[in-house]
Amino acid sequence: MENRISFFNTLTRKVDKFVPNEDGKVAMYTCGPTVYHYAHIGNLRTYIMEDILVRTLRYAGYDVKRVMNITDVGHLTSDGDTGEDKMLKGAQREHKTVLEIAKFYTDAFFADCAKLNIVTPDVVEPATNCIDEFIKVVSALIDKGFAYVAGGNVYFDTSKLDDYYVFSSQSEKELMVGVRDDVEEDSNKKNKADFVLWFTKSKFENQELKWESPWGIGYPGWHIECSCISMKHLGDKMDIHCGGVDNIFPHHTNEIAQSEAYLGHKWCNYWFHVHHLNDRSGKMSKSKGEFLTLSLLMEKGYNPLVYRMFCLQSHYRKPLEFSYEIMDNTTAAYNKLVKRVASLSKDGEVDKAAFDDYKNRFIDAIGNDINTASAITLVYDVLSADISDATKYALIESFDEVLGLDLTCAPSEDTNAGVDKELEDYILAKIEERKAAKKEKDFAKADAIRDELLGRGIAIKDTREGTVWELVK
Ligand code: AMP
Ligand code: ZN
Repeated sequence: MENRISFFNTLTRKVDKFVPNEDGKVAMYTCGPTVYHYAHIGNLRTYIMEDILVRTLRYAGYDVKRVMNITDVGHLTSDGDTGEDKMLKGAQREHKTVLEIAKFYTDAFFADCAKLNIVTPDVVEPATNCIDEFIKVVSALIDKGFAYVAGGNVYFDTSKLDDYYVFSSQSEKELMVGVRDDVEEDSNKKNKADFVLWFTKSKFENQELKWESPWGIGYPGWHIECSCISMKHLGDKMDIHCGGVDNIFPHHTNEIAQSEAYLGHKWCNYWFHVHHLNDRSGKMSKSKGEFLTLSLLMEKGYNPLVYRMFCLQSHYRKPLEFSYEIMDNTTAAYNKLVKRVASLSKDGEVDKAAFDDYKNRFIDAIGNDINTASAITLVYDVLSADISDATKYALIESFDEVLGLDLTCAPSEDTNAGVDKELEDYILAKIEERKAAKKEKDFAKADAIRDELLGRGIAIKDTREGTVWELVK
């Protein structure tokens, strides 16, 4: 098929035309969340832009298989394999077991994704499901001379590779600055850049999740999980691997080192990285403790899809600074846009030639290094074009397969029309009762009122303008 999509490939350091290994098919892997806390809206920026990439490829006709891991073990507070296990820290913080918090935050992550119209990957695999695979690959790396045991841990020996720093010509020292959080020395390592494949160190005695292995009872390192989970579901060769820019080093660098050492050939052709969302004080980070979640934005009255649009208005290769002012402007623009689309008449013929022409322009816009801002501009171009309303509507519905902004799903003005006065009075009284309960900080009562209304098919939503309600089907 015709290859019309290009994007920045961190491996070649340029915008490459995307050509998959197998014509028309795409094998894609995404580093999933470490589920020790809620995802912050920075994490979600990365997943929104990756979602746009998948949707773009599907829109252009590719058959995409996308795999995502869930990191529920082995990710330490420093990406350089030192510090504490993030999951254990999370469990201690909440006085729960690691598996309990893994389940809770995995569910919370996918609930956020659903609100943001992020399509769930075809395969989602928690690391704790794949211990046998990790042991198999780590054993093979030792047999092939790429790994060694020291102080109880198994390490990958980076000196065995001709080119370990595949993503960059930067020096090791410069790269280490990019490593998240604190970096502490590990005297067991033969080379500074070596990384852990399997931990058995006594330092982690209180580790909750441990498994038998040929090197003693322990648990896998973070990097090995992504190599093994992708190979398990996508085979020996992959087209695209995604993540945030902080994953480039050491995580993705280590993934390539161990995967190619194990396989004996090139593993993945394209590496897609999304730049960070920052707040005024710098990069948003879960380990900093204080961060913005999607729920918090919603509590402040923002529609999650406005946050999606906020992300789409800027390029994935540029850092993005979050601001409520831009969110407010985006809210106004989004509401206006959705209203304009809703006002289009859906009756009449779709002009096929105009439809195809604009659809091609859309693929060219988004296919040009995933330029979401140009794709949104094209929505406005369509709205003011000299074509029939039905054609406009059909085009915007089609573009929304990629944008995922629910542009054609506006609740019509009279959503609640036809509700009898008695019911309306009842709902308004309940809303007042709930407001009073919230003021009294009786959140259980407030939630019970909301649930009771929902049980009767009435959804309420807190917005900046106050609480609004609508009938749900
Ligand atoms: P984690 O749950 O920390 O493993 O991160 C999940 C994903 O979010 C990874 O792809 C990270 O690279 C990405 N990420 C982390 N911080 C940010 C940020 N501030 N902005 C955008 N993406 C981020
Ligand atoms: Zn990963």
